[in-house]
Amino acid sequence: MASLLFLTLFALALRCTATLGIPASDATVDVKAFNVANITTTLPGVLIQPVVSEHNTISLPLHAFLIEHTTSKKRFMFDLGMRTDPLNLAPSVSSFFQSGVYSVNAPFKGITELLEEGGIPLESIETVIWSHSHFDHISDMSLWPNTTNLVIGPGTNRSLYPEFPDSALQASDFAGHDVIELNFNNTNITFGGLPAIDYFGDGSFYLLNTPGHLIGHITGLARVTPSTYNQSSTFIVLGADTSHHPGQLRPRPKFQATYPCPAHLLTQSRTSVSTDYFWSPGSDVGVFDVLSREQPLLSIPDLPNSGDADPVTNRVSLDKIADFDANNDFFVILAHDESLIDVLPYFPASLSTWKEDGIKDKVLWGFLDEKNPAFRFGPSA
Ligand SMILES: [Zn+2]
Repeated sequence: MASLLFLTLFALALRCTATLGIPASDATVDVKAFNVANITTTLPGVLIQPVVSEHNTISLPLHAFLIEHTTSKKRFMFDLGMRTDPLNLAPSVSSFFQSGVYSVNAPFKGITELLEEGGIPLESIETVIWSHSHFDHISDMSLWPNTTNLVIGPGTNRSLYPEFPDSALQASDFAGHDVIELNFNNTNITFGGLPAIDYFGDGSFYLLNTPGHLIGHITGLARVTPSTYNQSSTFIVLGADTSHHPGQLRPRPKFQATYPCPAHLLTQSRTSVSTDYFWSPGSDVGVFDVLSREQPLLSIPDLPNSGDADPVTNRVSLDKIADFDANNDFFVILAHDESLIDVLPYFPASLSTWKEDGIKDKVLWGFLDEKNPAFRFGPSA
């Protein structure tokens, strides 16, 4: 009897062991991903540094996520990708498409069309959450029914063109929708140093305050498997634009300890990574050593025209997201991670079984493979 009581207490203690401060819960959501479009910019240096001379553009997939609460079946979106008619963006943004600084693989189907074609009526989606208000995440809200609510991060700049000529937003981005602005001052939950809001109040989905890229930038944290007495939950972290390339997130020492670099990439990267641009204590000229690299290969630019509104703050947000990335119960997905596009199972497939399916292990180090579209550390193979 005493041993049974001990076992029960031990199991309860295990259940309460919080990963990165996240309490156990049986409540989950299901996550499905779309890659809406790929945009290319001729100014990679505002997003990442250094820029190796052979890689003077960067291609950015635009990921959007359909999320469904497992028990209530409530649906919502986290990010939408971009609208199909970029010339109808506010002039401060459409001018980049006119000048060719941005280009898109036109024509493409917008998220509303992709959802409807996939048998997901827009009316069935209760809410759209913008990770932040940049054009490549907000699509065209005028295509959504008025019953769809819009959730935005704290302090999001809601000034509109034409009243504010430089504004990236216009009236149609909000018209007809109930807009809910998050307030992290009302929460005392913190995970891995990031303030969190429990979206459904049951631990299935959280929004994390990750400022820096833009005022009001938020990250999604989806619990995709329940906690059991002997197993912790698994999560998907929707990291949006906390970084624009997986090489800004990886590798870091904690990450390398959990996920050792595959042997073939250790060997390949010795000569594929240019030591004119990248260095580490174990490197020699012409021979790069990734094992002794103690910081990510790419950094967040600190230039006056940086793609991040506040690079210093964004680095802190990214440092915190990196702790999730180094934990084998969390799968961090960046909105523009080009290394995912050939590997990630897209809608209608679910990402919720990512751990048992080994998806994270397949994608983590992909950016370092010279055959991967995200490789930009030396001349490609
Ligand atoms: Zn973006």
